Amino acid sequence: MTKIDLKKFIRDIPDFPKKGIVFKDVTTLLKDKDALKAAVDSLAHAFAGKDIAYVVGIESRGFIFGTALAYTLGVGFIPVRKKGKLPARTRTVTYDLEYGTDTLEIHADALKEGDKVVIIDDLLATGGTVAAAVKLVADAGARIEGVGFIIELSFLNGRTKLGNLPVFSAIQY
Ligand code: AMP
Repeated sequence: MTKIDLKKFIRDIPDFPKKGIVFKDVTTLLKDKDALKAAVDSLAHAFAGKDIAYVVGIESRGFIFGTALAYTLGVGFIPVRKKGKLPARTRTVTYDLEYGTDTLEIHADALKEGDKVVIIDDLLATGGTVAAAVKLVADAGARIEGVGFIIELSFLNGRTKLGNLPVFSAIQY
């Protein structure tokens, strides 16, 4: 397999969605068939052999990479969504943002005690979003075997919110 420099496929968008934020645009990576394959394969390689039952993906770019990973590993996919989107009964967690709060939900019957899962999002920044997803999954009694991202903004130290959980990221800044 040719080694691909995934960083080359990430597009920086300054001042999006607000001034001072450099948005890491992954649509340019998704568009390239070799980069897409390399990105999903790197996640699959990180979590192969862990005997996981489900990939849990965080809305919305975590759905893209998470579902591709689930397909690659031959396991099922479970969505964690923003408030009010999931149709059946949910379990909910509210977490702090820079200004205000946000809420994530998972279907109450999606996971059962002891299910082994990995949690996927496109990007780890401060870690608040993934920590909320970790809480949803842990409260259901499932076992988190790892947490994976395409991009990690290491200078924001998001890993510190994830305790001892194994964290994989394909690209670091
Ligand atoms: P955080 O909760 O701070 O770790 O933020 C992670 C979530 O916000 C992920 O779902 C990312 O998709 C999104 N996000 C945060 N910062 C950025 C960024 N600089 N570029 C793209 N997405 C970001």
